[in-house]
Amino acid sequence: MDRKTPRTNGFLVFLKINSRIVFPFVNCCLNLWKISRIEPMIKTDIIIIGAGPVGLFTVFEAGLLKLTCHLIDSLPQAGGQCSEIYPKKPIYDIPGFPSVLAGELVDNLMEQAAPFKPGFTLGEAATDIEKQEDGSFIVTTIRGTKHHAPIVMIAGGLGVFEPRKPPIANIEEFEDRGVEYIIKDPEFYRGKRIVIAGGGDSALDWAYFLAEKNIAKEVALVHRSSSFRGHLDSVQKVINYAEQGKIKLITEAEVTEIHGTDKLEKVVVKHAKDGDIHHETDHFIPLFGLKPSLGPIANWGLEIEKNAIKVNTVDYSTNIKGIYAIGDVNTYEGKLKLILCGFHEGTIAVQSAFAIIHPEKKNILKYTTVNGVQGF
Ligand SMILES: Cc1cc2nc3c(=O)[nH]c(=O)nc-3n(C[C@H](O)[C@H](O)[C@H](O)COP(=O)(O)OP(=O)(O)OC[C@H]3O[C@@H](n4cnc5c(N)ncnc54)[C@H](O)[C@@H]3O)c2cc1C
Repeated sequence: MDRKTPRTNGFLVFLKINSRIVFPFVNCCLNLWKISRIEPMIKTDIIIIGAGPVGLFTVFEAGLLKLTCHLIDSLPQAGGQCSEIYPKKPIYDIPGFPSVLAGELVDNLMEQAAPFKPGFTLGEAATDIEKQEDGSFIVTTIRGTKHHAPIVMIAGGLGVFEPRKPPIANIEEFEDRGVEYIIKDPEFYRGKRIVIAGGGDSALDWAYFLAEKNIAKEVALVHRSSSFRGHLDSVQKVINYAEQGKIKLITEAEVTEIHGTDKLEKVVVKHAKDGDIHHETDHFIPLFGLKPSLGPIANWGLEIEKNAIKVNTVDYSTNIKGIYAIGDVNTYEGKLKLILCGFHEGTIAVQSAFAIIHPEKKNILKYTTVNGVQGF
């Protein structure tokens, strides 16, 4: 004690003398630490919620006005319904294309938007919006990614595609702890044991891909029936791999239980004839398809009618200044849910957005045929 007192006193004297230097220094360090912990903010002119055909074409139209865009989509790829529901179906009513496959249309729209360097946040649903004092918005996704812009264009189509989940009581406890409903990046499964459930193309193609590329250590495919809904070619490939022992195929069976402590460790597969099979695994991926729902957008204070956002047809603006709704997600008298109509709505909406972003500038319509895309 005797020996410690002078030292403590000395330290206090040191602090007293140096408080003018020490405290501001500590404060500065604390502030730097706080800043380094703040989530990075993606900044752009227009946040587009929905990377379907309408959102993608709007990037192009905004680009002609020198406005930058960042797209958010809950799906892992761009293209909306065209990519997710009918990529191989021909579309006959896109002007100038007597026939184009939906998937090809998306590729072309991506190419058309590319010169304007849009940003993408994919595989994350936009869940929250906050209006700032200056009238701009911060949009946050389910994973906490934040985006800031003066304008928000909702091109959400039929809404967020939510996964159809199997009826397993505790499944939500294991989400992101071994249970996933979409495969965003196959590399995530490298060296892992996985169980895929489902009988459509998605389940068949992913099971085959993860086994063929030797990504997963072990692949099991569980399906309720003995027949599949996927393409014959995909079915045959999986059957061949099952015969070679590269995929464990369990048909007429369902995953009914999942177990683990901190993360998934085991699934129980109920087989029609063999009873319960206990299967150790790192991941369980039910691929039962996706169902659309307007989702969180419905709670953003926007005027909603028939599960769609009401807009003013002058510029497709909503009841909140700075937020527009274009494409399948909006409603107005005479609305047609067609890609062509969404393209028109996006084109008109960006002209109106320009006036909000640059109230001091006059926008004069120019033709791409005269200036070329780069000339704008
Ligand atoms: C089988 C079929 C055939 C069709 N054939 C034709 C045709 O021949 N011609 C035609 O013109 N139209 C056709 N359509 C309709 C056409 O596909 C739609 O009009 C078009 O896809 C609408 O485009 P969109 O960009 O508005 O919305 P969508 O294509 O629905 O894209 C919206 C995107 O927004 C995302 N999203 C929604 N909410 C959120 C959120 N909160 N956060 C993040 N992302 C979100 C969704 O994941 C989705 O990717 C067809 C539709 C179907 C189903």
